[in-house]
Amino acid sequence: MAIEDEERPLRILFFPFLAPGHLIPAADMAALFAARGVRCTILTTPGNAAVIRSAVDRANDASRGAESARAIDIAVVPFPDVGLPPGVESGPALNSEADRDKFFQAIQLLREPFDRFLAENRTDAVVSDSFFDWSVDAAAEHGVPRLGFLGTSLFARACSDCTVRHNPVEAAPEDPDAPVLLPGLPHRVEMRRSQMMEPKKMPDRWAFLQRVNAADQRSYGEVFNSFHELEPDYLEHYTTTLGRRAWLVGPVAFASKDVATRGTDDALSPDADGCLRWLDTKPAGSVAYVSFGTLSRFSPPELRELARGLDLSGKNFVWVVGGADTEESEWMPDSFAELLARGERGLVIRGWAPQMLILNHAAVGGFVTHCGWNSTLEAVSAGVPMVTWPRYADQFYNEKLVVELLKVGVGVGSTDYATNLEARRVIGGDVVAEGIGRVMGDGEEAEAIRERARVLGEKARRAVEKGGSSYDDVGRLMDELMARRGLTNV
Ligand code: UDP
Repeated sequence: MAIEDEERPLRILFFPFLAPGHLIPAADMAALFAARGVRCTILTTPGNAAVIRSAVDRANDASRGAESARAIDIAVVPFPDVGLPPGVESGPALNSEADRDKFFQAIQLLREPFDRFLAENRTDAVVSDSFFDWSVDAAAEHGVPRLGFLGTSLFARACSDCTVRHNPVEAAPEDPDAPVLLPGLPHRVEMRRSQMMEPKKMPDRWAFLQRVNAADQRSYGEVFNSFHELEPDYLEHYTTTLGRRAWLVGPVAFASKDVATRGTDDALSPDADGCLRWLDTKPAGSVAYVSFGTLSRFSPPELRELARGLDLSGKNFVWVVGGADTEESEWMPDSFAELLARGERGLVIRGWAPQMLILNHAAVGGFVTHCGWNSTLEAVSAGVPMVTWPRYADQFYNEKLVVELLKVGVGVGSTDYATNLEARRVIGGDVVAEGIGRVMGDGEEAEAIRERARVLGEKARRAVEKGGSSYDDVGRLMDELMARRGLTNV
């Protein structure tokens, strides 16, 4: 390797899928890499650039030392013209199947700017979203190693690999409540049929999942927003049994933990400030935080029951109803509106909440979550136990990890994998209240759950500190990419 090559910093291109749950951790991961001297570029479209701008600015401010160059650049490319209204560039903005189809056409068309970037810029590696399955070939054409990033747990990734290999749903009885055993995993993992994607009912999605898995397998390796101590058996399974290469670099949320506008284009809900001040007035561990990420939709009966459950729980609460697209008058019980109006026990945030600030507030003692992986790991990193309420995608697997393996949460008994509101059984408010009581109340079970969550939170923090497992994985990956540069230059 030439001396100037040794001195030239590594350059990594991040190419996240166009949805906040993929963009946010990609930007955080870029910040972690930038803090170690890597020059990072995030390739995305204008509306999505806005989502990560504040976290990137913060990372650049933090790394601006003797050097004047920015550690992270955002390469903004136009959103392909596929007939979507201006500004509709991301998962949560899509409201119909027709729009979703157009969106996926646009995703394919992003190959052109991705290719162009690699042709015009020296790049040592690409961290591209697993959903851009074509990016593995595109990167290979430019001789650049591709690291897949799906943004889920190793556990869920291993489960989904297992379903793609063995298709256990097809072999199970037709009954929605039939148990489906996922073979070949380190633990006995049994799902209900209704909690899994039905390959025959969703052939396109199933084919997509197969392509994603195959592309990740052909990649140089995969990076995970996780840490060794969280799911060691699944790391071992992934690398030794499946022979796949994985670097665990999380929890990446530590990178932008204090950025209030993390994940939003400065459109933080006006309720956010008041919420943080309100939390300051509440005793430690007394508030349940309730939020279901950026894509989950609840039907009016589900919302009504959830409101009833929060009331019944007797606990303080902060509920982010940002994703609710139904008029409150259609579902909010009068008694709940009165409870909110008194402002003592609970409040709702309409719009974007500063989730990391809330989860890390001492007043918060439990998190009612859909088990999106970012939210799940954010709760783990904050040492907060969970009440789990998965809806679809990897969320049922993440619930299993939280409730059965890590034992830092309890489930509300969600049984239906469905993006379609009508297809879901409504969970009763009394069940929600009971779940909250089981993690936030008195008694041995609740105390044991809280203690495990606290210990896990400490392990998470140590993992990203100097000498921690995730810190070391980043270092190992950098060394390997640097060594590879030497080899490819000979
Ligand atoms: N988030 C937030 N404020 C909100 C809603 C979501 O900061 O009001 C963040 C949350 O902290 C997480 C991400 O958005 O980082 C959601 O990702 P997750 O994987 O939990 O769920 P998804 O939205 O992908 O289903």
